[in-house]
Amino acid sequence: MRIGIIGAGQLGQMLGFAARRLGHECYFLDPSDEPPAAKAGPVVQAAFDDVVALSVLAEKCDVLTYEFENVPVAALEEIDTDTPIYPPLDALRRAQDRLSEKQLFEELGIPLPKYYAVDSADDLAAAVETIGLPLVVKTRRLGYDGKGQFVLRDADQIDDAWAELGGSNLIAEQWVNFDYEVSAIGVRNADGEIVHYCLSHNEHAEGILRTSRAPVDNAALAARASEYMQKMLQHLGYVGTLALELFVVGDELLANEFAPRVHNSGHWTIEGAETSQFANHILAVAGEQPGSTANIGHAGMVNLIGRIPAAAREIEDVALHDYGKSERPGRKLGHITVVAETAAKRDARVEDISAIVT
Ligand code: AMP
Repeated sequence: MRIGIIGAGQLGQMLGFAARRLGHECYFLDPSDEPPAAKAGPVVQAAFDDVVALSVLAEKCDVLTYEFENVPVAALEEIDTDTPIYPPLDALRRAQDRLSEKQLFEELGIPLPKYYAVDSADDLAAAVETIGLPLVVKTRRLGYDGKGQFVLRDADQIDDAWAELGGSNLIAEQWVNFDYEVSAIGVRNADGEIVHYCLSHNEHAEGILRTSRAPVDNAALAARASEYMQKMLQHLGYVGTLALELFVVGDELLANEFAPRVHNSGHWTIEGAETSQFANHILAVAGEQPGSTANIGHAGMVNLIGRIPAAAREIEDVALHDYGKSERPGRKLGHITVVAETAAKRDARVEDISAIVT
């Protein structure tokens, strides 16, 4: 099958490698020069809202999918094609706006932090009244890796927060003193078959994911996360891989956000699960049966951010994925995965690897 992938970053690259192993061909669309996914198939170099280029990709391919959630929905709606687009545009639309994302969680009965829609400095003052402090103010659209966020600890900072982020539609959220963060990754195909990966425990710094470890040893949390994931997949008529990020507070899970795509916190599945999140996304969009999501041992993933030190390449018994991107502070350049026999051994290795690469 010919699969068109919008976006040719590292997620596109890993999707492309998985597709190739499954006997499919991938074509990408991306405005950048020499994007990572060029290693996995031809790239149409065009803007994401270029309707003509999107139409050409749709004509060339049997199915279209995407690797990041800021693809303009309006451009995808404009292309006149019978080629299916998965995941469905409704999932993309809801993920692009933090307000509609939270409303979806509410509609489905998925618990989430308190929030308040903010369109003026007065709204922000009202949010402080309603939610209390501290709270985090986020842009509703186009935020990623903690960008477009302001943590408001004191009511004196309202004007600063508005000066920094005002001008866009915003949302204020209760600051959650979580115990830790997890993500659930699930996959649904067009026949409605659903599979779930085990929960991953994720650590962020400066809003950027640093490490993921799976499985999380808590059957009750895993069952609850699968229930939330299933509700989302079914409600959205979803096809493909979906990631749901959650805060763990005691025995509770609070939904933070979802991504209608393969996710950084699922990179460990390449070596740590019988079928990776990438292969399962391709299987789902290609109309095939999902593969087993059973984990193989205890997996740990460490992101390589900003630079890949030479010492990282000397580490033994790991898989180093180098996306082939140039160095830049804060940029995700690659990741390292380790799979160990026990959680304790995995944790020790994640600590050692993190010390080498940070
Ligand atoms: P986001 O872009 O919403 O995923 O935020 C990036 C990271 O910031 C999250 O993974 C958390 O570590 C932290 N964060 C975001 N929202 C909150 C919140 N309401 N309370 C506490 N930490 C948060």
